[in-house]
Amino acid sequence: ADTTLYAKWVEHRHTFKDEWSSNDTSHWHAATCEHTTEKKDEAAHVYGTAGAERYTCSVCKYVSETRKREAEAADKKNTESKPVKVKRTEANDAALNSKFNVKAGKTVKVTWGKVKDADGYDVYMAYCGKDKEKVVKSVKAADSLSVEISKLKKKGINQKENIKCHVLAYKMVDGKKVTVAKSITIHAAGKKNKSVTDAKSIKLKKTSYVLAKGKKAVVKASIVKKNKKRPIINHISEFRYATSDSKVAVVSKNGKITAKGKGSCSIYVYATNGCAQKIKVVVK
Ligand SMILES: [Zn+2]
Ligand SMILES: [Zn+2]
Ligand SMILES: [Zn+2]
Repeated sequence: ADTTLYAKWVEHRHTFKDEWSSNDTSHWHAATCEHTTEKKDEAAHVYGTAGAERYTCSVCKYVSETRKREAEAADKKNTESKPVKVKRTEANDAALNSKFNVKAGKTVKVTWGKVKDADGYDVYMAYCGKDKEKVVKSVKAADSLSVEISKLKKKGINQKENIKCHVLAYKMVDGKKVTVAKSITIHAAGKKNKSVTDAKSIKLKKTSYVLAKGKKAVVKASIVKKNKKRPIINHISEFRYATSDSKVAVVSKNGKITAKGKGSCSIYVYATNGCAQKIKVVVK
């Protein structure tokens, strides 16, 4: 007799792992049934644009060693080519102050020391008293280190008035001025002011100190006046102090030096009119 064979339909659904499988280019869910070549959700890895996302797939977390090496090389190159951070430093301040001088007469002559990498200087000035110092000259040249001011408050210089003045050195970064040094504020006697005088020089009892870390010493300074019969301008401290490197030694506003760490640095002593002396400090 004829025989008819019927195929029996057996439904089979592949089953897959929850975890991702991956190779260097793509990820997928592998089959757990006997059809081991079946893959579900197969797709290329997905990478981002920053940090570890550049080499880690955001879907399966696969890390591409090739992409990782490339990313790290790019980061390194970036760091090396970046310009050094532009900022104000103690060494820059010291350089600016090193030749900072204000000579008040019919005109006011201001000179200052060159600051490495500065693109220009802003000179601030006012008569002593309550007036705020304003920019009287903006010097847009790295090598121009003096100006002569003939007017203040839109008039000729009043020679009976004392002058206060400070200078900022700046560097242009992305079109903006970034201060890289700030001078002390000099207070200079007006040429026709008969009640006060300026310092001619500073005398130091000791010009160098060798200190153990943590030890202190006090600067002993005295003023030689230009006119012995008149007092020095006294509305600010007689002396101001600064260090060239506070990692080595710091100095208080009263001239007390504290040794901080091994090395050597300079402590500067400034008179009211910018007249200066330098002390060498070695910390052992
Ligand atoms: Zn299957
Ligand atoms: Zn992936
Ligand atoms: Zn003053």
